[in-house]
Amino acid sequence: ERERLHRLRHKAAVTLDGARVELLANIELPGDAPAALASGAEGIGLFRSEFLFMNREGELPDEEEQYIAYRDAVLAMGGLPVTIRTVDIGSDKPLERMSGQELRHEHTLNPAMGLRAIRWSLAEPQMFEAQVRAIYRAASHGPVRLLIPMLTHANEISASMAVLRRVRDQLMREGVAHGAVEIGAMVEVPAAALSLPLFLRHFDFLSIGTNDLIQYTLAIDRADEAVAHLYDPWHPAVLRLIADTIAQGRLAGKDVCVCGEMAGDIDFTELLLGFGLRSFSMHPACIPAVKQRILRSEAHRLETYAREVLQSEDPRSVIRASVPGGVRAA
Ligand code: PEP
Ligand code: MG
Repeated sequence: ERERLHRLRHKAAVTLDGARVELLANIELPGDAPAALASGAEGIGLFRSEFLFMNREGELPDEEEQYIAYRDAVLAMGGLPVTIRTVDIGSDKPLERMSGQELRHEHTLNPAMGLRAIRWSLAEPQMFEAQVRAIYRAASHGPVRLLIPMLTHANEISASMAVLRRVRDQLMREGVAHGAVEIGAMVEVPAAALSLPLFLRHFDFLSIGTNDLIQYTLAIDRADEAVAHLYDPWHPAVLRLIADTIAQGRLAGKDVCVCGEMAGDIDFTELLLGFGLRSFSMHPACIPAVKQRILRSEAHRLETYAREVLQSEDPRSVIRASVPGGVRAA
């Protein structure tokens, strides 16, 4: 079985009725790129850059160290796109300590709702600028997409965009080699999924972070064992937000990817296809099995299944019509 899955590596992910699906990898460090390629990934859909910042004693990585890391990932992928997410520091990914200073707001009651991700970046403008410079510079070596996590408010979008513009102008003025970068937003806060026209106006692409979207929609701490049984990706409200994001993105002609755990979970492959998703990003080890599901699917029949799921109060129980024998989801 492993061997057979391995042979799928060079096969394109196309449904039985001809829908082409892009399968991308999530990585944490540039050294993960070879495993991504070996799994058959067609690019990096999520480079969690915060892993360059975590588990280190001394200074945080400066522009040069980050540039080298991002460049190495871009070079390793040999011309395939690399989506670099700006740091998602805070909450479940704390820093050991800040460079030379104590991490502010260290002991907050609700770190998941606190100073994390883009909120942290905007509160640390020098760190943010250094990272954005490093990303633009890495883009001189191959296709790079920049992804911003946890965006919620229009002010955060305009403040982030202003930094990106300033950095690009700076690099231009300084004559520093850099490349064009597509800009995307993570949809992982319900407020973002409920403000799609705003996001679609400002960004080239969207990436749905289901891990946080579930956490924030259901008010369930994704890391708290005591409520793990209530963390339900099948909740109708969660599915509705995901389906809307995919549908509105398609209508606007913008790429939408899912990069949370759901993308690599074969229980959701058919449903996401039925919602119209054509870009999945996941842990490299999940790619062969998801690809196998896609190869056996009929996209147009899954649209009916997806509609039924969205109308159901018990989405898990809806029979997947397009799967031979009509298999229940879970
Ligand atoms: C997510 O929230 O689904 C996501 C991909 O980001 P992370 O798991 O790194 O928070
Ligand atoms: Mg997230």
